[in-house]
Amino acid sequence: MSWSISNQGLSSETLLNLESIFALGNGYLGVRGNFEEGYADAEISSIRGTYLNAFHDVIDIPYGEKLYAFPGTQQKLVNVIDSQSVNLYIGEDEEPFTLTEGSALSYERSLHMDKGFSERKIHWRSPSGKELKLHIRRVVSFTNKELFAVEVKLEPVNFVGKIKVVSRLNGDVSNYTNPNDPRVAAGHSKRLTVDGCGLQGEYLYVEDETMASALRVACVTRHDWDGNWKVETRAGAAEGWVTAEAELTGPLCLTKWNVYTDTLRHGDSLVARGISLQNSLRELTFEELLKQQRRYLDAFWKTSDILIENDQRLQEGIRFNLYQLLQSAGRDEHSNISAKGLSGEGYEGHYFWDTEIYMFPVFLMTSPELAKQLLLYRYSKLEQARERAREMGHAKGALYPWRTISGTECSSFFPSGTAQYHISADVAYSYIQYLLAEEDDEFLLRYGAEVLFETARLWAEIGHYYEGRFHIDDVTGPDEYTCVVNNNYYTNVMAKHNLKWAYRSFERLKSYDEKGFQELCARLQVTEAEAQGWLQAAEAMLLPYDEKLGINPQDDSFLRKAVWDFANTPQDKHPLLLHYHPLTLYRYQVCKQADTVLAHFLLEDEQSEETIRRSYDYYEAITTHDSSLSSCIFSIMASKVGYHDKAYDYFIETARLDLDNTHGNTKDGLHMANMGGTWMAIVYGFAGTRLKETGLSLSPQIPAGWATYSFRLTFRGRLLSVTITTAGVELELLEGDALTLTLYNDSVDLLSGTPITHPLQQPNRK
Ligand code: BGC
Repeated sequence: MSWSISNQGLSSETLLNLESIFALGNGYLGVRGNFEEGYADAEISSIRGTYLNAFHDVIDIPYGEKLYAFPGTQQKLVNVIDSQSVNLYIGEDEEPFTLTEGSALSYERSLHMDKGFSERKIHWRSPSGKELKLHIRRVVSFTNKELFAVEVKLEPVNFVGKIKVVSRLNGDVSNYTNPNDPRVAAGHSKRLTVDGCGLQGEYLYVEDETMASALRVACVTRHDWDGNWKVETRAGAAEGWVTAEAELTGPLCLTKWNVYTDTLRHGDSLVARGISLQNSLRELTFEELLKQQRRYLDAFWKTSDILIENDQRLQEGIRFNLYQLLQSAGRDEHSNISAKGLSGEGYEGHYFWDTEIYMFPVFLMTSPELAKQLLLYRYSKLEQARERAREMGHAKGALYPWRTISGTECSSFFPSGTAQYHISADVAYSYIQYLLAEEDDEFLLRYGAEVLFETARLWAEIGHYYEGRFHIDDVTGPDEYTCVVNNNYYTNVMAKHNLKWAYRSFERLKSYDEKGFQELCARLQVTEAEAQGWLQAAEAMLLPYDEKLGINPQDDSFLRKAVWDFANTPQDKHPLLLHYHPLTLYRYQVCKQADTVLAHFLLEDEQSEETIRRSYDYYEAITTHDSSLSSCIFSIMASKVGYHDKAYDYFIETARLDLDNTHGNTKDGLHMANMGGTWMAIVYGFAGTRLKETGLSLSPQIPAGWATYSFRLTFRGRLLSVTITTAGVELELLEGDALTLTLYNDSVDLLSGTPITHPLQQPNRK
């Protein structure tokens, strides 16, 4: 049920969005869902893209006025060698196959999320009346990360005659730009030059190099021809191609095997490495490749699937979001999850706090090994974060960049870039969550503590005592419509948590491994006095509170500002960032996204339930949700404060955001943070899951109209299944040792083979 996304759309407008939706990836390699044959109609816009996670060029950032420590360069994800193209010509007159001419008698494209491939099934009539059936399947392999394979099956319907295939490998590629949208790059479209193109035996290869970062990428391609083909392979200056001809009297098939290598991961001899990988894949058939995909995905869905009975569209949306997260998550120290995954070029392939706050939690509780990889990426960038802190005038500590690929700051607009210091606390938060989930002290000793210490040092540096309280001035919280403020509640409370846990880790490691602890302290020059200082700052942290309204103000000056005139802002002026100068927005109480409300989710024990509810009411009225990172948080918090209908409405916003293109820019890539948000809205929102020092707790509710929903959680080596019906909650320990957790307010012992049922405690609906 709902394991596939299917689409029959061929209109020029939807095609561009569908290129993102049908993108395939494996965390390393991503290929947009472009048509192999291209679009013959020049009117149809397309972003033809293939990306390797973290494979980037470095470009200059142009400034009118460049002040001290503004980054001079930034990284940009590069669109790499195109191996998608396969063109067909039929009959003696070589009529080209294209869906923009002739007629599609039937057409369907599908993405199979349980099987790990996409396909197009086409029955096409050429302008002269020849009918052809095509079945095209593509795989980006989860088990051989370098491999992208395309299989094309052909069958003539009403004619017999010649077929010619031209399959290309093109190194002359460019990136997409749009000078009118700040979320997409404005320039620097051509960043690769062709280094070499040639033939080695049956292999065709192209090698490219980036213009400034001097990274290289190669693609080595091989074809399997099933049937009686006459094949000729050629290499030009920037492109290689294979021309094959056959008599089309019955079904024919060809398979194109493309292997990508790059200098970040594969050493220097990229073509040789590609050929050796190709050689190792020689025995692999397309059917066997599909079996590998299936096995991989069976294991993934076993721990990650969410089931919602009787709602096909939602079910589809949720699975799609989880599947895309899996396709996007980097699995090595170079890569992370970019804001658009590997599905497009929006935000230039940069990694943001989106990972730690919106996507990491999904992996933490479903595929902890992938979560660990995301942490290791940040660990590997710690040195650059230290350097950035020095540039920013801090004698100690580490400041993570607001947006980056290789670890240095890529944001040229500091008010909503570098000023978002909270990213360092967000990274720390994810390490703390990992510790709470996995209790992995060895990981804490080897990696986590260093990150927690260095980020704690940043707060000690930037903050200061004033009238006995610890203040943090001139930073920006998550809400990008309010910038450079003092005592942003979110930043302060997250910094407090960071400082507190740096201290606790210090204490914890003392008893875990005395020698290892001493070595770490000596290497980082951390002293007992410094750690005490962190605790002191945490305890003295100012968390702004407004007595009159009984809420946490977003920052010191927020409540003094005028409220934005929402009633007189026409719909076509949204999102506001595309229609108003930032300063105009900064002067008003208007939020782009959850800020204080998000802080109340992440650290709910810092405030009373009443304060949290009043804050929710207050901020909801002034939040536009112009960022796709907002609705899921409002859904979770609406569940918490008992606004069940709202929780559901916000959840609906998130579940199909890209499938229905509700933000209007799916063409630039999928909204990955929102995809993690959908999972959180169910697991943290409806089911009330929390992960704290006291362990794992759940407090499930069920949205009106749902009969059953269920999901799985991985926790400290166990696999749990959670099923919620209108009658009750069922918990089952599927794998691992007995476990104690909290259900509502009761402590329950979960034993293998003994599921627990508990009546649903549904609070009053509002
Ligand atoms: C949001 C940020 C987010 C970025 C990348 C912006 O629109 O305001 O919070 O990190 O998009 O997704």
